[in-house]
Amino acid sequence: MDSSVLPARKRVLVTGGAGFLGSHLCERLLAGGAEVLCADNYFTGRRSNIAPLLGHPRFEAMRHDVTFPLYVEVDEIYNLACPASPVHYQFDPVQTIKTSVIGAVNTLGLAKRTKAKIFQASTSEVYGDPETHPQVETYRGSVNPIGPRACYDEGKRAAETLFFDYHRQHRVRIKVARIFNTYGPRMLPNDGRVVSNFIVQALTGQPITIYGDGGQTRSFCYVDDLIEGFVRLMDAPDAVTGPVNLGNPHEITVAELARHILDITGSRSELIRRPLPADDPMQRCPDITQARTALNWEPRVPLREGLTRTIAYFDHLLSAKATLSAEELGEVAPAEAPEVRMEHSGVRLV
Ligand code: NAD
Ligand code: UDP
Ligand code: UDP
Repeated sequence: MDSSVLPARKRVLVTGGAGFLGSHLCERLLAGGAEVLCADNYFTGRRSNIAPLLGHPRFEAMRHDVTFPLYVEVDEIYNLACPASPVHYQFDPVQTIKTSVIGAVNTLGLAKRTKAKIFQASTSEVYGDPETHPQVETYRGSVNPIGPRACYDEGKRAAETLFFDYHRQHRVRIKVARIFNTYGPRMLPNDGRVVSNFIVQALTGQPITIYGDGGQTRSFCYVDDLIEGFVRLMDAPDAVTGPVNLGNPHEITVAELARHILDITGSRSELIRRPLPADDPMQRCPDITQARTALNWEPRVPLREGLTRTIAYFDHLLSAKATLSAEELGEVAPAEAPEVRMEHSGVRLV
């Protein structure tokens, strides 16, 4: 058939497309009519996350590690490849920083050659343990460059530098989003993040593990809201490069989060205290003025509603436990922060 008569479809690469956020993004892009290529090394991503998409005529999945070059022809790139939970990114810190830095070089090289627009999933962790509150994009952050979180924080900071240098030096069209804590269906039950830990603990009657005194704050964004922000940023005029904060400014303490989850699940799990992990930020809340004005975006799903949907997802997952494979069964247990495990084993972090 003469390809010139076919409608031109946007070809989009999603690295990390089999992960929590990536799989929701692939779905959303397919619904918008794009051709989607998902590239993932399945470190923390799951084939089951993209299984429903595999039969889709505009979807393709490939096993690929972003620390290696990739030659494909695309119009847009969403670079999400990187483990996001402290338990996972501290499992192999050297691979984590390589993924952020070399992964950025390779995807930027690809964007430069193909003239594709490129989106970077950066993070609120670039602000470290922030001294200003809420965090605005102009705040330069307070990050410990040699601590246990540095492989992630500093890797993401270096990736931002690369994005802006490729933009200035090679005119690559960049879109940098600083993502704040996001939750929703398809988080892994064992990835150690607070929302998945508390929900799994509440549903299985295990104690809820509060690290520190539970007074530290976070601001939780429901996944559908975040993905809408990604697409709006990508579709915004080229002058909108970011970095732009994407997150929900509704800030609560970790102890309050536990109370909401106990209340919604009706669980009688007790609350127990565990040591606060090293370099755990005490407060975090996005200033989303830029996203509101430049993208006309703000989160719509209230916390209780998003938690209710997420709890329904985990409830279904846990009740399907009998049919899970051994690999999946191993995943249905909350994980402790690596620093907490180290303290238990007598290793002290200074
Ligand atoms: P996730 O762990 O579910 O997804 C990351 C995906 O990247 C996984 O599918 C994993 O297999 C893949 N991956 C990891 N290393 C790779 C490599 N070297 N090559 C190819 N693929 C690789 O995490 P997520 O929550 O979906 O996060 C997605 C992105 O968003 C990450 O870059 C993360 O840093 C960023 N982010 C997420 C949050 C959040 O709250 N979820 C907050 C801030 C930033
Ligand atoms: N690269 C890639 N796909 C491409 C083009 C480049 O993976 O389509 C990688 C390649 O590994 C290269 C890196 O991106 O090393 C950076 O590319 P750039 O053109 O900026 O640098 P150079 O090739 O000149 O080192
Ligand atoms: N946290 C907790 N109990 C848990 C898991 C996490 O109290 O079982 C705390 C953690 O110390 C941090 C907050 O919850 O203060 C958010 O942790 P998460 O790992 O989800 O995200 P991040 O620290 O990367 O923002």
